[in-house]
Amino acid sequence: MASPTAAAPAATDRSGLRLMHVHAHPDDESSKGAASTARYVAEGAEVLVVTCTGGERGSILNPKMDRPDILENITEVRRQEMERARDILGVSQSWLGFIDSGWPDGDPKPPLPEGCFGLVDLEQATEQLVREMRRFRPHVVTTYDERGGYPHPDHIRCHEVSVAAFEAAGDPERFPDAGEPWQPLKLYYHHSFNRPRMQALHDAMVEHDLESPWEERLRDWKPEPEWDARITTRVPCGDYFGVRDQALLAHATQIDPDGFWFAVPRELQEKVWPTEDFELVVSHVEAPTPEDDLFAGIAPDA
Ligand SMILES: [Zn+2]
Repeated sequence: MASPTAAAPAATDRSGLRLMHVHAHPDDESSKGAASTARYVAEGAEVLVVTCTGGERGSILNPKMDRPDILENITEVRRQEMERARDILGVSQSWLGFIDSGWPDGDPKPPLPEGCFGLVDLEQATEQLVREMRRFRPHVVTTYDERGGYPHPDHIRCHEVSVAAFEAAGDPERFPDAGEPWQPLKLYYHHSFNRPRMQALHDAMVEHDLESPWEERLRDWKPEPEWDARITTRVPCGDYFGVRDQALLAHATQIDPDGFWFAVPRELQEKVWPTEDFELVVSHVEAPTPEDDLFAGIAPDA
């Protein structure tokens, strides 16, 4: 589909519409789809972020926060960071309560730690998410693609659990003790971390004589046109990049304010790539693609 346009979204009333984002760790809700989240909240939709794990095994990625007192209390610290991000984005949030698998470092990769989310029984995890879906009754659900967006075992698990729960939530035969069946209408994968976007931001930085954070990354990432062609949906949300940035900064142990997240000036991002991008994977409503709205084709309380 064509490149994103800078057309400002018309103010729309989203009352009665509900969106669920399923994420692996605290901070994923702020690094993926956060500006469209902020936009939908501003327009009156209800958004629930479901966080599968507590991020217990996340490394501290901000040098200013790499202190023993933080590391000792990382679970509690990340819980507080999540609460701040939740309030900034204006969403509600729930934890599925699984344990972070950690990033398996080494070649060959070490086995995953016992009891972690990456090893948890798929049926058990699916039932927990089905319970959340039947309670919140989302019209739209988002998750990661089958590669996990990036190959963290928790992200791949999150994908598997989300797809399974989307399918099971409306089926009265599945998990009868997990609440009244509810069929969400659309399932999306996040695709915002795509190569054409990175290339466009990189080119704009070079053009403005600014140092691009993406030089090396682009060299190593060979173009994947078929993968990029999977994008069906570009949600204009440039006006909310500021909210997204505040939510990111709330995750102080994970986000370095001097790092690549903030290397591209926001005005440039708004001009060059003012959308967040998604792939519509399942739809139970008439929703011709390409589209620019996760709720396209859905009436409130349909
Ligand atoms: Zn994550």
